[in-house]
This record gives sequence, structure tokens and C-alpha cells, in this order.
Amino acid sequence: MQHEVETCELCNCPGGEVVWESALCRVVMVEDADYPGFCRVVLQRHVREMSDLPPAERNQLMNVVFAVETAVRQLCQPDKVNLASLGNLTPHLHWHVIPRWRDDKHFPNPIWGSVQRVVAQRRKPIGVRELGEQIINALRQAQRSGT
Ligand SMILES: [Zn+2]
Repeated sequence: MQHEVETCELCNCPGGEVVWESALCRVVMVEDADYPGFCRVVLQRHVREMSDLPPAERNQLMNVVFAVETAVRQLCQPDKVNLASLGNLTPHLHWHVIPRWRDDKHFPNPIWGSVQRVVAQRRKPIGVRELGEQIINALRQAQRSGT
């Protein structure tokens, strides 16, 4: 485990531009012109699996994932959102929040699947600040509604 932590990409780098963070986790924006709004929610410490987290932290982490999903839906108007937690290559808890459109490069495959089409028109990029503000709004709203 010690060696794993020393060589872990997410222990050593933020993993993208930081949009929002707490003591538990950070939200980073992934630079991918095909998927504006693509974010990762990364645990601040090295933990391999969701079931290794105490239940209260699992809930806190998922609340952030859902707030990011809400923010991405508001800003990007995707046809679908993909939530994914893989970590086969980087076994450090992180969730991918990926906006998807019927005409995106890989639809209906996962974004890691084979390319389905050439996309001529790029989608409008999303600003880190506006995304951060929407995430804060979504977190506040979730807190108010007691979830
Ligand atoms: Zn790590």
C-alpha cells in the first residue's frame, strides 16, 4: 500500500483544474474538448474502494457527486449523464461525471469505448468559475432539502 500511495497519480497531482474542494474530496475539471463539463470527484486521501469508507463519508462523497451531476445538467444540458467509478489503473477513489449527447463521439458507448462518429462542431466550453458556483448552489439546495 505504501508503494501504491507513493506512485499514485491522484495522491501526487490534483488530476485536473480544481473547481471546488472540501476536507473529504475535490472536484476537478477534465480537459476534453469533446466533453465540456466532464468532471472527476476525487477523494483527498488514498482509499481503494467505496466499502473501505465509513458510511458517513460514503454519503458525503456521493452528495458531492450528485451536486456535480446537477450542476453539469444545468450548464451543459446533456442527453444523459454517465457516472463511473473504475480505478483499475489508479486505485484511488474517484468518480467520473460525464455529460453525454446522442451525437457525441462515442454515444451510445462509454467514452472509453470505440469512436462512433466524427464530430464536426465542438460544444461550447464550460468555465471553471461558473461550474464551481453551480456546484455550490446544488450542494446548498441538497442540504436545504435534507438529503
Ligand atoms: Zn492515491
